[in-house]
Amino acid sequence: MQIAIDGPGGAGKSTLSKKLAKQLGFVYIDTGAMYRAAGLACLRKGIDIRNQKDEAAALVETVLIDLIPAEAGQRIMLDGEDITGLIRTPEVSMAASDVSAIPAVRLRLVELQRALAATRDVIMDGRDIGTYVLPDAPIKIFLTATPEERAKRRYIELTEKGEACDYEQVLAELKERDHNDSTRAFAPLKQAEDSVLVDTSSLNFEESFEHLLSIIKERL
Ligand code: C5P
Repeated sequence: MQIAIDGPGGAGKSTLSKKLAKQLGFVYIDTGAMYRAAGLACLRKGIDIRNQKDEAAALVETVLIDLIPAEAGQRIMLDGEDITGLIRTPEVSMAASDVSAIPAVRLRLVELQRALAATRDVIMDGRDIGTYVLPDAPIKIFLTATPEERAKRRYIELTEKGEACDYEQVLAELKERDHNDSTRAFAPLKQAEDSVLVDTSSLNFEESFEHLLSIIKERL
């Protein structure tokens, strides 16, 4: 069984998918973490991704990116190093968005994602899962919320982690990523025609969770 959950950043995809996977006994696959790993690899090598696309693509060809499902949440590995705690910064978010617009990078990561989904029941979240990675997934959900609501959630999440940030800046970066992700030529962020649209702007976490669970159970 494959469940595809797509949508823009901050809509709640990963926290909801994680909990749904646990409840249903599925493996959760966070494809954004893979693009974040690729972005971090480029940052570490000092590659200016927007202006050095070939260098970025060549680097991502050579690094090893792996997702390891674990009880306490999945771990993301880069060349054998656990980088899970390093990939949620605004800088890595933007690098991920930039690197994800490079077709060669997407092809490589999509291959990994399809391999992960081939042998187990998965909930996979991202931007292009229902449209490109797993187009035959029987259950597809497009999760969204207003940019202001998504920025508010991101802001609270960052502040709770003790990271200094400014709401207006979080909102501006989120809108920039939305724009990048939905206007790139190859596999952009877009709602799949056969997906269910869920707007979580006025729902809290529990309400969103119950709503998604009922959509999934109805279709299982
Ligand atoms: O979901 P998350 O915010 O962690 O994703 C980080 C970035 O990775 C996104 O802004 C997007 O550019 C890219 N991404 C993608 N396709 C996916 C998942 C993430 O392009 N399937």
